[in-house]
Amino acid sequence: MITDNLIAGNPSGIGAETIKAVDPAKRTQTSELFKCATEDELNTAVQEAYNAWLTYKNLSGSKKAQFLRTIADEIEALGDTLVQRVMIESGLPEGRVVGERGRTCGQLRLFAELLEEGSWVEARIDEAMPDRTPLPRVDIRKMLQSTGPVAVFAASNFPLAFSTAGGDTASALAAGSPVIVKAHSSHLGTNALVAEAITKAVKKCGLPGGVFSSVQGSGRTVGKKLVQHPLIKAVGFTGSYTGGMALVKAANERKEPIPVYAEMGSINPVFVLNQKIKTEGKAIAAQIAGSVNLGAGQFCTNPGLTIVEKGEGLKEFMEALTEEFAKLDAATMLNETIHSAYVNGKKECVDQAEVSLLFDAESNDDSWKGRPGIAQVSAKDFIKNNTLHQEVFGPFTLLVVCENKEELNEVTRALEGQLTGSILGTEDDLNNNPTLIENLSQRVGRLIFNGVPTGVEVCHAMHHGGPFPSTSNGMYTSVGTDAIKRFVRPLSFQNAPQSILPDALKDGNPLNIWRKVNGLTTKE
Ligand code: NAP
Repeated sequence: MITDNLIAGNPSGIGAETIKAVDPAKRTQTSELFKCATEDELNTAVQEAYNAWLTYKNLSGSKKAQFLRTIADEIEALGDTLVQRVMIESGLPEGRVVGERGRTCGQLRLFAELLEEGSWVEARIDEAMPDRTPLPRVDIRKMLQSTGPVAVFAASNFPLAFSTAGGDTASALAAGSPVIVKAHSSHLGTNALVAEAITKAVKKCGLPGGVFSSVQGSGRTVGKKLVQHPLIKAVGFTGSYTGGMALVKAANERKEPIPVYAEMGSINPVFVLNQKIKTEGKAIAAQIAGSVNLGAGQFCTNPGLTIVEKGEGLKEFMEALTEEFAKLDAATMLNETIHSAYVNGKKECVDQAEVSLLFDAESNDDSWKGRPGIAQVSAKDFIKNNTLHQEVFGPFTLLVVCENKEELNEVTRALEGQLTGSILGTEDDLNNNPTLIENLSQRVGRLIFNGVPTGVEVCHAMHHGGPFPSTSNGMYTSVGTDAIKRFVRPLSFQNAPQSILPDALKDGNPLNIWRKVNGLTTKE
């Protein structure tokens, strides 16, 4: 069987090159072939996306909301076929896949609610003041509008929630931007099923086919060409630092550079403070071990660093943490490359002279299972060795032991930008460590108190985008409704007649949205 690309609503497979999907649990290629997109097919997809954009961007919030809800319904209608396919291509267990499908459909429906409510466009109206002296004021009105077609790179580690119909696609479609997805080679069959579901929704809602396309093939050819197409206006990406930065470079080499919103890598430091270790050490150890090992450690918010200060209860805490790691089962990782990168990254860390291994379940069998590991290093050695600051993508954490509070603060100063930073401490611990909190807040996108970083709520207040190098642009989130802001830009209308203005900016507020009129937030 051969699966074509899906270009503007139609299957297309004019090229000769094909790729295959892989079953990581069995370590075998699946039987069907997937056609790689040719340059002509890419050009058609982007041109059709642009043509569709001219009408789609102006669609009412309720019509776009109906489209997003229909996509969610179509994904759910795939039922067990989709769940089984994700499981085969990712090695993820059923519960996780079903949960991820729920997250995917939930975020589509959350964006639908945002569109129906409508105030996300941030309408601002400064009415004309013809009698103002010394100069009259003209009428100026501003709102957010879609920037144009968006290229989305599906992520290996979330075959549904950060892939074909994931957060990037949902937020771009919500913004009024058609999407072209570059399928991840790890889950081509999953991509094809979801792409088909989106295409059905496009047809059901009577939208132009170019609103959505899905292309298959290598990132270095198909992916790069997509990013460099002049009609693509933004890129969403989740993956490696190398891949993300290659796309940033490709985008900056264009005649018109465009934003690449790349989520790249993070070691998500977790600080456990003295009183907390003394009073709740065992429970905290179980919580951290669970978070490190969730989904075979293949979460962008996996806690790769656990940082503690010497004091009463630390020995027992470290023993409990090691015991918890020893209890955990290894799980199949997403693909061979990710598995070997994990094994090599863990080995490189543990091989550093100053690092001592506390536990490693590594074995000689040749499955692609990510085996839990934990190692220890002093804060002084951690700070001066850059190798120890690199992400080891998998179920591994490095325990950094500080001599005192000053060393805790020095560790925070040495950290690069992170998606998250967590502090587990009693109220006294927290009040005694203001510098730690201040330093960490400067380096992370989400500051977590008395919790672990895995579990990224999809909501209005979420910020999932830390300072560089965790993302290429820490101003924006890839999770939650604010993700829409990546695909819009402000446009001011000066002296525009009512008949020309979008409804969001018209007198009388026909959409009944919150607007800032002459400096005051109102629905008037
Ligand atoms: P990846 O190698 O960065 O690939 C992600 C996507 O980008 C794929 O579609 C890939 O295309 C494309 N790509 C990669 N390099 C490219 C380049 N130079 N030019 C254009 N496109 C390029 O990420 P991955 O496959 O998901 O996993 C590899 C490693 O990334 C993991 O071991 C882990 O270290 C890291 N990772 C981190 C996170 C996180 O959230 N922190 C998440 C996922 C992965 P192809 O189809 O050609 O591969």
